[in-house]
Amino acid sequence: MTNMEFSELTAVYQKLEEISGRIEMTSIISDFLGSAPDDELPTLILFLQGRAFPPWSDKELGIGGKLMIKAISNISGFPDEKVVDKVREKGDTGLAAEELLVNKTQTTLFKEKLTLQKVSDNLNKLAGLTGKGAQDKKISYINELLSFASPVESRYLVKIILEELRLGVGRGVVRDAIAGAFEVDAALVDRAYSLTSDLGEVARTAKKEGNAGLEKAEMKTGVPVEVMLAQKVGSIEEALEKFSPASFEVKYDGARIQIHKEGDRITLFTRRLESVTKQFPEIVEEARENITAKSAIVEGELVAIQDGRHPRPFQDLSRRIKRKYNIDEISQKIPVEINLFDAIYVEGKSKIDAAFKDRREILEKIVSPTEKFRIADDLITEDVKEAGKFYQKALDLGHEGVMVKNLDAPYQPGSRVGHMYKVKPIMETLDLVLVGATWGEGRRANWLASYLLAVLDPDSGQLLTIGRMGTGFTDEEFKSMTELLKEQVLEEAGKEVKLRPSVVVEVAYEEIQKSPTYESGYALRFPRLVRIREDKGVDDADTLTRVEEILGSRKGQ
Ligand code: AMP
Repeated sequence: MTNMEFSELTAVYQKLEEISGRIEMTSIISDFLGSAPDDELPTLILFLQGRAFPPWSDKELGIGGKLMIKAISNISGFPDEKVVDKVREKGDTGLAAEELLVNKTQTTLFKEKLTLQKVSDNLNKLAGLTGKGAQDKKISYINELLSFASPVESRYLVKIILEELRLGVGRGVVRDAIAGAFEVDAALVDRAYSLTSDLGEVARTAKKEGNAGLEKAEMKTGVPVEVMLAQKVGSIEEALEKFSPASFEVKYDGARIQIHKEGDRITLFTRRLESVTKQFPEIVEEARENITAKSAIVEGELVAIQDGRHPRPFQDLSRRIKRKYNIDEISQKIPVEINLFDAIYVEGKSKIDAAFKDRREILEKIVSPTEKFRIADDLITEDVKEAGKFYQKALDLGHEGVMVKNLDAPYQPGSRVGHMYKVKPIMETLDLVLVGATWGEGRRANWLASYLLAVLDPDSGQLLTIGRMGTGFTDEEFKSMTELLKEQVLEEAGKEVKLRPSVVVEVAYEEIQKSPTYESGYALRFPRLVRIREDKGVDDADTLTRVEEILGSRKGQ
């Protein structure tokens, strides 16, 4: 076992924080990976992405801000309140720790160096702790790390543990860095990652066995495979121009789940590769009994339902996904069903190269459907009218639309190739007012990175919040948005900024939901910027009445 020092990684973090260009980032990481010992690669890659564990691991750190404040207080000797004040002043717990721990470390001159292995070990031990006394033990593991750490190491340790290290090191950057460091093909790195969901292992294989090793990568049960994504078309006609005949399936309104079966062992993963096995015991049971193959990976859409199998609002399903305790109680209140639509691995063999029609046949062969464990409704046709009727029926049931699938296409993990298309009604956009924003973190620290949206109350003329928008912006857009909004800041508290209502933006979204979180009583799901409406003033923004009209008309569909 090598003993790489944690300080080598923190030096890289510091460099990454100073730059924002993707090419520069890739080259820094590539150099670093190239010089790192093989056995440290998996941990390094996780830590570079600000993670302690892969997303699909059942392990969780579960350290909140309060516990961290206690740990910092213990080790620095400052009372909790002083730590809280510092966090508020800095707007970041990591920076607060760094500053408060400066004096502590000057007194311990000959201390042991903190190694990457030690950090990884302690985080693993910490994640396994539950029950009585767990909190104290967790604090002691954190304290041990902080006592070895230099101030700057403390800054990053705290950020990793709180899962607040956001340096923008995404999958694409790591892929290119691995390709650069070990002179392998980036497309093969991508493929291997899509199948094994483990960039650390992919890096190790790339280094040791090169392209030939990456080509051999295969999926296995228990580790999620990246899902194939859909493209969008405007109408049924357009979809049939892509391929005809095609398979039309109901586009169920829920969450995509991958079910892995190996004997009696069942695991469920979301599309973001997170394990949700514990949250859905009824689906685990159904899968164990009704997937007749010994080993298999199948995919389907999990839907929270109410009378007549109508989908409930997405937030109900979200509540189930988030719930970690009293699962039985909530599963009574919010029942679910799954609609299976693909089989990508059966009896030890990958099926991704098989045509969709064959995979569907395999699915039907290895699943005995039940009331809750269903196979997606489909219609194979080349007739626009027939397909149109099927589409309308899906909407009448309260689902989102239809998926249109190429009968002859393979399954391509992780990519949005044109093997399937979605057709759904176009959602009207809303013109909303920006009333607040939040300063970003890490390399986004100088930008306003999340924007509070508001709608006009037609009766009082007041602005009522309806959601937050922060994704889908390029760096350039963040920069220019910040420039624009800086002039409008009324008040700042920590990272939160209150804005003079003046900028109107056109916003697209997936859905409008009822929500107690915002003043309007509604929340937009996945809001994204379409454009800034320079032609509109606050009084021209959309009203609460409009929001309710859109919601009403969607329901009636
Ligand atoms: P979108 O998230 O809008 O890109 O649409 C693709 C998503 O639709 C998939 O990731 C699934 O979660 C969901 N979906 C619902 N029903 C189906 C179906 N029958 N086939 C494939 N995906 C479906």
